[in-house]
Amino acid sequence: MKFGGTSVADLERIRRVARLVAAEKAAGHDVAVVVSAMAGRTNELVAWTDGAGAAAPGLPASDDEYDVVVASGEQVSAGLLAMTLRNIGVASRSWLAWQIPVITDEAHGKARIEEVKPEKLEICLADGVIPVVAGFQGVDRHGRLATLGRGAGDLSAVAVSAALRADRCDIYTDVDGVYTTDPRIEERARRIPKISYEEMLEMASLGARVLQSRSVELAMAQRVPLRVLSSFVEPGATVGAGTIVCDEEEIVEKRIVSGVAYSRDEAKISLFGLPDHPGVASEIFGSLASANVNVDMIVQSHSLQAGAANMEFTVGKRDAGRSVEIVESLKDKLGFDGVALDDNVAKVSVIGVGMRSNTGVAQTMFRALADKGVNIQVISTSEIKISVLIDAAYTELAVRALHAAYGLDKA
Ligand code: ADP
Ligand code: ASP
Ligand code: MG
Repeated sequence: MKFGGTSVADLERIRRVARLVAAEKAAGHDVAVVVSAMAGRTNELVAWTDGAGAAAPGLPASDDEYDVVVASGEQVSAGLLAMTLRNIGVASRSWLAWQIPVITDEAHGKARIEEVKPEKLEICLADGVIPVVAGFQGVDRHGRLATLGRGAGDLSAVAVSAALRADRCDIYTDVDGVYTTDPRIEERARRIPKISYEEMLEMASLGARVLQSRSVELAMAQRVPLRVLSSFVEPGATVGAGTIVCDEEEIVEKRIVSGVAYSRDEAKISLFGLPDHPGVASEIFGSLASANVNVDMIVQSHSLQAGAANMEFTVGKRDAGRSVEIVESLKDKLGFDGVALDDNVAKVSVIGVGMRSNTGVAQTMFRALADKGVNIQVISTSEIKISVLIDAAYTELAVRALHAAYGLDKA
């Protein structure tokens, strides 16, 4: 059972979580728990590290002391929940990542889990004691704390589930499942009872933050059945609710489009008057890759000028300033006319496995956006998704229009 930040936001909610855990235990299950920091705490800790100069502004934190600070939020909530469980007569103890250990690589701030050693947790469970694991953290091979990236409490939960060969990993949050789009933006969004790993992975990586994308990737690879449900209920009330993330074959009712996602985390960089010859893209994206910048959407087109091309691509907002500097440093070598940065953009995507076998899916999207007067700046597609980049001011309008256009609205 994994509980996110809003589920453990205060002592009252921690008591409710303890009742949910106790009920699961009383029903005869062995339970391991993973917790996030109390809501808002990680942001506060990150802000402190920014103030202390953890990493140059705009740089993703790669500082091992950043991890020491921001990992502490999970230590507090793990201890508080274990304490609360004991208070209602349920044997429990907290586990920090280094005690288990959860072993990661050394990419501080976004470390990858290499291994979760199950032995100590197994002994704890065998003794009838509920382990409460601090999520989001690990320890590298030098014994230094590492954090796994924002939202990665979900990843910890899946990794612990896989290590313990759990029957299921239940992600408790502040919504009662995965919806056709963010219910905060579209009140007509509907809960999806079952969704495939693949669609969930696309939804998550395209911005639906209800599950962190690497957690879905790991669940898919390790075949961990995932369920998303609300912790804002009393024990017993969740039966039958929530969303199950499973293999595509297990889903009977298939839709062409299952969901709409959005992200305001990207910025667009435009390059004008690039020489149109082999090696230019390799030079640009090679330099960005060496600096650990992830590039998402890319378009290139000929310019009116003979032998020249224009290029646009998107990067994470945090990397935008740095990316422009990198590109500008190539100006003499490549000889282009200019660079522009626009961080007032949003990526809106429609996702569905049914796209594989249906035509006209993109046209429905373009028509719906055109009808609302929303201009499309960049388009990218894969087998099961279509994404467009638009002016950020139209994000909500576009999400609602697409939600309706694909018939996802609640009846
Ligand atoms: P937690 O703190 O439990 O990890 P998150 O804030 O990370 O919770 O994720 C839950 C939030 O995800 C919801 O409050 C909701 O606003 C948002 N969300 C975005 N897209 C979706 C979606 N398609 N379905 C459900 N929730 C979504
Ligand atoms: N507390 C961490 C964060 O806010 C991890 C999580 O909540 O999943 O990013
Ligand atoms: Mg989350």
